[in-house]
Amino acid sequence: GAGKDYDSVSGRVRVAVRLRPRNAEELVADADFADCVELQPELKRLKLRKNNWDSDTYEFDEVLTEFASQKRVYEVVAKPVVESVLDGYNGTVMAYGQTGTGKTFTLGRLGDEDTSARGIMVRSMEDIFADISLHTDSVSVSYLQLYMETIQDLLNPSNDNISIVEDPKTGDVSLPGATLVEIRDQQSFVELLRLGEAHRFAANTKLNTESSRSHAILMVHVKRSVLEREAAFSDLAGSERIHKSGSEGHMLEEAKSINLSLSALGKCINALAENSAHVPVRDSKLTRLLKDSFGGTARTSLVVTIGPSPRHRAETASTILFGQRAM
Ligand code: ADP
Ligand code: MG
Repeated sequence: GAGKDYDSVSGRVRVAVRLRPRNAEELVADADFADCVELQPELKRLKLRKNNWDSDTYEFDEVLTEFASQKRVYEVVAKPVVESVLDGYNGTVMAYGQTGTGKTFTLGRLGDEDTSARGIMVRSMEDIFADISLHTDSVSVSYLQLYMETIQDLLNPSNDNISIVEDPKTGDVSLPGATLVEIRDQQSFVELLRLGEAHRFAANTKLNTESSRSHAILMVHVKRSVLEREAAFSDLAGSERIHKSGSEGHMLEEAKSINLSLSALGKCINALAENSAHVPVRDSKLTRLLKDSFGGTARTSLVVTIGPSPRHRAETASTILFGQRAM
């Protein structure tokens, strides 16, 4: 097909686009209007409507419609990364998109009430547990929130300003202040995610902000005999542009910080996609934090999430372009 895999020389970033279904509000408010996109999953193509008779066509590695199951999304977006982590490479899975388009649905859903609803993080851990042996291997996780260039520990809220330490010899990044919990079964992993979510909610209430204004990053360290590898799962801050003229003070500072980190991330992903020798990880804390996952043999998978509403066409277009530049 037109998509490339990790073995191809043309790039190491896989990019999928996922459309969420219309929500209740959109079913009513947009009832007389067509979706702003039209998906052709078998051609791995997406058409973005320009007007009633014309559209722009984009190709992705995967095109996931509103009917794509969580299982299928896991299989095409994250499973190749999880498999390569189990084979000894670092990797990262990121969800990018406007607030309300399904980043957390895609990555973070626990699926307590319905196992088919489980998201990428839970499914990844299941596959990791299925492959490793707890006699010889170990899995530990950290769960972090990055807000306004400050890293907070979602597993221990009293660690509210974690620093990134880089090994001067290897260049590897570590977070000595972050809680690292060894986990031995799926149930304790799900409980840990739930605890992290509760802490995230409490921290954001205290800061008087919304979770859509911060990045949530789950770091999974897999140690097999002496080989240590890391998978990072990033539920990124909402990519919507905040109208700078309309926001001021703290809101403006938040907007600037999000713009800085997401554009720095975009530059790194573009550099990876182009096999550039220089990946500019130093431009933001987000990219410094993910540095090991941007290394030479690391696998990167990006899912860009979009909504169908014609009212959000401009945001959807900008999300699609972010994904296109990563390929
Ligand atoms: P984000 O994290 O990008 O802000 P969410 O994941 O919170 O967005 O999703 C917003 C809403 O849309 C939630 O109510 C979520 O359950 C719903 N949703 C998102 N994606 C889908 C999907 N693929 N199928 C059904 N509902 C979805
Ligand atoms: Mg979210």
